[in-house]
Amino acid sequence: MSLLETVGQVTASDVFAPRDVPPLTNAAMDGYAVRGTDIAGATLQTPVRLKVRENLAAGRVARLGIEPGTAIRIMTGAPVPDGADTVVPFEDTSESSERLAELAADRIDVFVAWREGANIRRAGEDLARGDLIIPQGTIVRPAHVGACASMGFRALTVYRRPRIGILSTGDELLEPGQTWTPGKIYDANSYVLHAMTVQCGGEVVRLGIAPDDPDALMERIAACDGLDMLVTSAGVSAGDFDVVKTAMLRAGDVTFYRVRMRPGRPLAFGRLGGVPLVGLPGNPVAASIGFEVFCRPAIRRMLGKTDLGRPTVRAEFRGRVDNYDRRRSFYRVQLERSGDRTVARLTGPQGSGILRSLVIADGLMVIPEDRPTAITGEEVTVMLIHGIEDG
Ligand code: AMP
Ligand code: MG
Repeated sequence: MSLLETVGQVTASDVFAPRDVPPLTNAAMDGYAVRGTDIAGATLQTPVRLKVRENLAAGRVARLGIEPGTAIRIMTGAPVPDGADTVVPFEDTSESSERLAELAADRIDVFVAWREGANIRRAGEDLARGDLIIPQGTIVRPAHVGACASMGFRALTVYRRPRIGILSTGDELLEPGQTWTPGKIYDANSYVLHAMTVQCGGEVVRLGIAPDDPDALMERIAACDGLDMLVTSAGVSAGDFDVVKTAMLRAGDVTFYRVRMRPGRPLAFGRLGGVPLVGLPGNPVAASIGFEVFCRPAIRRMLGKTDLGRPTVRAEFRGRVDNYDRRRSFYRVQLERSGDRTVARLTGPQGSGILRSLVIADGLMVIPEDRPTAITGEEVTVMLIHGIEDG
């Protein structure tokens, strides 16, 4: 993949340096390239006078080498000429003083006895040829992009972004922007799922809205190929038109169609037309949390990432929830500091159709399936669902 597109992706192979960086030993300062032994006794009172043989800009190599008693004027980054082993910065020579006028242009006085090797960058001191620079499985950061460019690479082998088909189902759905008519609602799911897919690194293939008709749904899906995963919403519950489940049974298989979680019990997994399919519930909060729990880790795995979950914090709960039917429950909470503790409170009504509960949430309080209740003062675990850079 083009180097410029790889930031945030995971490297799929080890990256070794094919050459030294820097490629040649070069000046770390603007000054004079000299032999360290020539200037060993230099002080302000007893300067060492050298003959200047050449003026060397960055990007060029010297025509001449250094012989005893000579220097080459050199700019930062220019390769150090043969015979030279030290660079004396301008400020330690007569070039920076009034005494310059006293000298012919081809003479320089050195005032400081820089030790041999000073102000020089050795070839390969940054990246040495053959070194492992980026191990496989690394998440590419801007510095990696820079290091690759410095080695001359235009591309880098990374796990590609998986193509995730997103399809809403339901006769009641309208595209946002369409005129509302009674009985209809706007399709929120394909939008929230699209955004979540993008945020976790997937490439979205929008499949639009399919009516509650298995054949129509099959047509939509048949029209696109190269999908790595299909994410649908609605049509997996026990309603009359559980269209996704019907389609899977006809042209694929269903591994499961119900999970012991809240919200989002009707959630199907299986295959349709050879593509893994996650059939999320219709209610937008349930669809979002289903995606968070099942799709996001899957997409991250396809991206080569190994850290699949979200960070969690321990918090003190204020409120009450009853897990009467023993499901793993994901409550939307806001977090707040109270002294040295973190306090979690529900974001109001928790119905699976109440998207606002998620809009204002900082995290998801996870109540395990074997915990019957959580009450004020008890410790709970909260999944942080916003990345550090999401604001
Ligand atoms: P269903 O799973 O088809 O029974 O849908 C459950 C609920 O989710 C119903 O109230 C649907 O209207 C609603 N719903 C289904 N799909 C969407 C969607 N794409 N956007 C918003 N709400 C939806
Ligand atoms: Mg429906």
